[in-house]
Amino acid sequence: MRLILMGPPGSGKGTQAAFISRELEIPHISTGDMFRKAISDSTPLGSKAKEYLDSGRLVPDEITIGIVKERLAESDCRQGFLLDGFPRTVAQAEALDEILKGMNIELDAVIDIQVPREEILKRLTGRRMCRECGASYHVVFSPPAEAGCCDKCGGELYQRQDDTEETINKRLDVYHEQTQPLVDYYARQGLLKNINGNQEIQQVLKDIGESLGRSLV
Ligand SMILES: [Zn+2]
Repeated sequence: MRLILMGPPGSGKGTQAAFISRELEIPHISTGDMFRKAISDSTPLGSKAKEYLDSGRLVPDEITIGIVKERLAESDCRQGFLLDGFPRTVAQAEALDEILKGMNIELDAVIDIQVPREEILKRLTGRRMCRECGASYHVVFSPPAEAGCCDKCGGELYQRQDDTEETINKRLDVYHEQTQPLVDYYARQGLLKNINGNQEIQQVLKDIGESLGRSLV
């Protein structure tokens, strides 16, 4: 199956991506991994992308799209793929349509994992990291034996700046602003599958499977 996976930070998208990829035996293609590989392989596009990233500039669409095109042409994508983090804009979605058309294939579905903002805030603001060893905890879901203290090394636990309510709210605003046009684009194509991500991990996976007409659990 040829799929796109969407979901805000804290939606559990990464966890679901790993399950879907394993169960359907299709590669999980995240934009970050794709860039890292193109750069470490020193492909012409990877080298160009590196120049932009090194200077702190946004990688232009033509380079990103070129990297996606090369990745989708690899043999492990013959049975399908799960794209994660691409496309981010309608322009990129249109470019992807062109790439797929050129390969004579089509998308099967776009999975959008939805989680209420309050729940995302609960998940992300509860994260704590150890200053000494980097171990991660969650005040509700995986608390340390002693509050504020690392189980592994006794180090002090702290909240990353990225995990404060204010920062998360901003990230979610940006996410929704950017992705709404994309969601509309795929809804119009009849490809969008809305999935309730505010459930147990296994139930979310089961719902994704049902929306695809496949059994994933
Ligand atoms: Zn520690």
